[in-house]
Amino acid sequence: MIIKTKANSRLFSKVSTVLLSLTFLAACGENSVSKDANSDINEDRGVRLYVFDCGNLRFESMAIFNLSDDETDIRELIVPCYIIDHPKGTVLWDGGLPSATAAISDWQPDPDNEGIDSKLDKTLADQLRDMALGFSLSQLSYVGFSHIHFDHVGVANEVKGATWLVQRGDYDLVMADGAQLVAFDPTLVSGLRSLPVKVLDNDFDIFGDGKVQIINAPGHTPGHQVLYLELENLGPLILSGDLYHTQINRSEKRVPIINVDVDQTLKSMDKVEKLIAETGAALWIEHDLALFKTLETAPAYYD
Ligand SMILES: [Zn+2]
Repeated sequence: MIIKTKANSRLFSKVSTVLLSLTFLAACGENSVSKDANSDINEDRGVRLYVFDCGNLRFESMAIFNLSDDETDIRELIVPCYIIDHPKGTVLWDGGLPSATAAISDWQPDPDNEGIDSKLDKTLADQLRDMALGFSLSQLSYVGFSHIHFDHVGVANEVKGATWLVQRGDYDLVMADGAQLVAFDPTLVSGLRSLPVKVLDNDFDIFGDGKVQIINAPGHTPGHQVLYLELENLGPLILSGDLYHTQINRSEKRVPIINVDVDQTLKSMDKVEKLIAETGAALWIEHDLALFKTLETAPAYYD
């Protein structure tokens, strides 16, 4: 795996925006973006990252993240989904809360997890349809989940035809009847069993050019993984999965209570921090609501 170093100055470059007005598209020359994001698949352009709001979680206590309720005011986490549009194909990274959550428009208690409320304003499928970006859950090239907890695989059963990129530890749990794991609901991922699959035992460079790489980072679940991206203007970026839930978890290497293997998680933290040091990558803690509020969400994209 070769990862190029990029200048930090690029991290703060301005986000590009998809402009859906066909009138404007006709007038704006080479900067125009097709309404059908897949139609320019052969163009020599960089990777684009779309960020979606795929729900919120609210907690009575942050103890499950190994945080005392006195040391943080955080009680709410964002649950994002991402689509990476590479000239050679599209990747869905993380699948948000279960789409059925959107049937009720307000906070609702999680029936399986006491003290946790969830909310989803609009399913990813509906967002994609309404934004008309040219993506749908049945037209993706690849799907990868940071791990198989319920708040990361919410659209798994709606994905058709894509190749599922999964580390062996999580793959074995999904494929085993009666597998037990906290915060894992086998019914949410049953559809993955019929997708084409690439089972991974380590890092994986999806398109072979170093720009979209899965980094094996086990511990939170047996097959937890993070995503490394190289964006031309934004620079290198890592999407954390649940390696960290808050900044405190990162700065103090605080492993959450919901976690399969503490030693593995600590090693994965070291591995990812080393990668950050080597590449100058930014790290987006996926569940960080304060960070999310500063991001441009789809139809805008980062490139
Ligand atoms: Zn999570």
